[in-house]
Amino acid sequence: MTEKLICILCGKPALDGLRIHGEMFCLACESRLIKLKPNDDDYGRCLAGLRDLWARWTAEPKKELITESESDVDSPAKTSEPN
Ligand SMILES: [Zn+2]
Repeated sequence: MTEKLICILCGKPALDGLRIHGEMFCLACESRLIKLKPNDDDYGRCLAGLRDLWARWTAEPKKELITESESDVDSPAKTSEPN
């Protein structure tokens, strides 16, 4: 399997690193994200990249993520109290 994974943050080939939703973060970006602080120069850029990714992930149909057990966790129709 010769799948070429490109880091979605820096665009460099990511042989190893963090893989989320089929997107790849290289080790450098992964460690950068972990140590990222709001006053870092990279913060805005990384956040923008993550926001872009997040928008893409949430826009996808989550048929694989939805489980039947999750559907009845919070059902607001449970009002057994008498009036
Ligand atoms: Zn990277």
